[in-house]
Amino acid sequence: MLRVYNTMTRKKEEFTPLKEGEVSIYCCGVTPYNDSHIGNARPFVTWDVIRRYFAKKGYKVHYVQNFTDVDDKIINAANKEGVTWDTIANRYIKAYFAAMDALNVRHADIYPRVSETMEDIVKMIKDLVDKGYAYEIPGSGVYYSVEKFSHYGMLSGRKLDDMEAGARIEVDEKKHHPMDFALWKAAKPGEPSWDSPWGKGRPGWHIECSTMSLKYLGKKFDFHGGGSDLIFPHHENEIAQSCACLGDHHAFAQHWVHNGFITINSEKMSKSKGNFFTVKDILKEYPGEVVRFFILQTHYRSPLDFSDERLKEAQTSLGRLENSYQLIQELSKKEGDAETAMKLAGEAETLRTAFYEAMDDDFNTALAISQMFALSKAINIYARAVENGAAFDKKDFDRAAAIYMEMAGIIGIFEQEAAPAEDGLVDKLMDLLIELRQEARAEKNWALADKLRDRLKEAGVLLEDTKTGVRWKRA
Ligand SMILES: [Zn+2]
Repeated sequence: MLRVYNTMTRKKEEFTPLKEGEVSIYCCGVTPYNDSHIGNARPFVTWDVIRRYFAKKGYKVHYVQNFTDVDDKIINAANKEGVTWDTIANRYIKAYFAAMDALNVRHADIYPRVSETMEDIVKMIKDLVDKGYAYEIPGSGVYYSVEKFSHYGMLSGRKLDDMEAGARIEVDEKKHHPMDFALWKAAKPGEPSWDSPWGKGRPGWHIECSTMSLKYLGKKFDFHGGGSDLIFPHHENEIAQSCACLGDHHAFAQHWVHNGFITINSEKMSKSKGNFFTVKDILKEYPGEVVRFFILQTHYRSPLDFSDERLKEAQTSLGRLENSYQLIQELSKKEGDAETAMKLAGEAETLRTAFYEAMDDDFNTALAISQMFALSKAINIYARAVENGAAFDKKDFDRAAAIYMEMAGIIGIFEQEAAPAEDGLVDKLMDLLIELRQEARAEKNWALADKLRDRLKEAGVLLEDTKTGVRWKRA
């Protein structure tokens, strides 16, 4: 039984899909105006594991994630560079995919963009105006009237009266309530704009996610996700818009899943503090799988502290799992059907059950990964015993290996060609091979020297003779 924490009810709830055998997910995507930072990456890695998990359990997964390609930040960036808004948006959408591909994040089924959903957005705003939930302020735009929706605050637990008291005075005095928010913004000179019944303009931020999720997933869908900073006002406003439109406050997303913040060396990330890390920069120093593994070693709802030291630790830990993966590659070539006292598969099955129990408990990847470490250890001990002459039962071993790879497939590791650095093992082995080849040449054993060079080339390693000695590089 899968239990998931629901921000709406503030407790773990049993998950029952709306449609048997299927699961529908909407996750708020990025505003493509700069390179994604490590905090941006967390929800997408989190949802990638959740999707993999559902798929492994046999569900058909529908996953929608938007691009906010019409936004103040994009327009500002475009004006600063003297390029069009879509140049900026397209550039950083491309950068988003490059970063996420490096983290083994699988693509969504659909990536709707604001600029391509304009007609539906305008239709939804018009519907809200017609139903009395929104009003026009001529020259300014269209606003949602929070007082008209009696359930406003149901997700964040905030009360309108408290919000009014805390609201700043700078708000547009023509608004009916300080918390009323823009659905449509009247065009300003030099900004991209689209036609609407209220004149040229562009949508406010929140309406796009209501329109897109309802358009692609229907009136009710299983999960809505994003960072916890989106709970208020973004997701609260999405609920207000969608449920008002549908006339049902139980419609829209059934489970609200929010991931925790990322701090940098225990401080909030900010450009002014100089502790702002883009995924692109981190990838210059660490393989993508290390970054992914680092994120998943902490439960998604817990705060995650990012530091170079912790990334290095993750790299070492992942290297340990990688070593067992290598042992599996080697041992799986071995034949044998000996009756052996070692029952690796039995232990693996127990750990598999524990792995699934952890994932069923609000997607506890941290605990699931610890089961994988336990299996890694068992595989290492087994491999060492076999190496020392113990009997080998291929069927038993293959089952354990399959379970190990099943776990890896859900966590999303061992998928990249370049293996994570294994404590410099590759370097040490290469030094040894180069040294042996040099010795062969010194002894004029050209056949052996050439064989070493050719076999390395086959394995994708090129040797280069330089003045300071032989160097190697990956082809
Ligand atoms: Zn959203």
